[in-house]
Amino acid sequence: MVTSSVGNAPVSPRTRIAVLGRGLVAADEPVLRGDDLGVLRGDGLFESMHLREGRPWLRDEHLARMTTAAAAVDLDLPPTDTLVDLLDTVCAGWPVQVEAALRLVCTRGSEAGGPPTVYATVTEVPASSRAARHTGITVAILPLGVPADARTGLDWLPAGIKSTSYAVNSAARRWAHRAGVDDVLWVSSDGYALEGPIANVVWLTGDTLCTVPAATTGILPGTTVAWLLAHAHELGLGGAERMVTPAELHDADGVWFSSSVRGLVEVRTLDGVRRHHCPRTPALQALLGFPV
Ligand code: PLP
Repeated sequence: MVTSSVGNAPVSPRTRIAVLGRGLVAADEPVLRGDDLGVLRGDGLFESMHLREGRPWLRDEHLARMTTAAAAVDLDLPPTDTLVDLLDTVCAGWPVQVEAALRLVCTRGSEAGGPPTVYATVTEVPASSRAARHTGITVAILPLGVPADARTGLDWLPAGIKSTSYAVNSAARRWAHRAGVDDVLWVSSDGYALEGPIANVVWLTGDTLCTVPAATTGILPGTTVAWLLAHAHELGLGGAERMVTPAELHDADGVWFSSSVRGLVEVRTLDGVRRHHCPRTPALQALLGFPV
């Protein structure tokens, strides 16, 4: 792809940005004030959606999750119709044949007060994400250091929200990079697998496709896995939410990570142990409709 550059940073001509109240802006146009609480404190929410054929897949589910999260952190989210208009603005004109990631960001706005900062971006799905659908991924176990029910037991702590405070998630990804694996699976101090820093874990045991319950663990309730489990019957499978240990995952018939942009990727190595390829992977990916 042809790129131009601003300063030292290459800028993809295909990045699109729309800001609430301003409409489409150039990709290198400033969007945030220096005193934006999203920057100063990571005080904001975001959603990442899969843009397929120019339209955001599971848009309403993502907006519903953001609305729930906004209520949990007292963030003054604009009305849903306004957010839909913003998404329409940023998506309009995106080439339909190019698979993309659509991000919606809402921060608490300026430290001086005033409205939230709301903007949306569209970028191409990274080649590494598309490749992972073919190759699968290597995953290491990483301790999270708290029991599985620690976070839902604290009534002051909003759990399971897609906050822009991703420092812990980013640290886990950097650890994965240093350890030479593609991703990590967090495990609670009482021995349960929870989620990855950017994905839910999904596994197959017999004819049942499973994931970890969000309500009792405080993990992010994934839109992708919720849709997959709700449609598993189309492949003759049941769907269930269960707690699981890494040992049980090693014995599972298939293990995957699910997320909105990368889609469903098979875990081919778990904590150094190579897994057999699950023959169900192509059908599950086809069901979800991600290009492979
Ligand atoms: N868990 C975490 C921590 C995530 O960041 C994500 C997605 O970014 C997911 C799970 C998967 O959620 P979804 O399928 O809605 O993208």
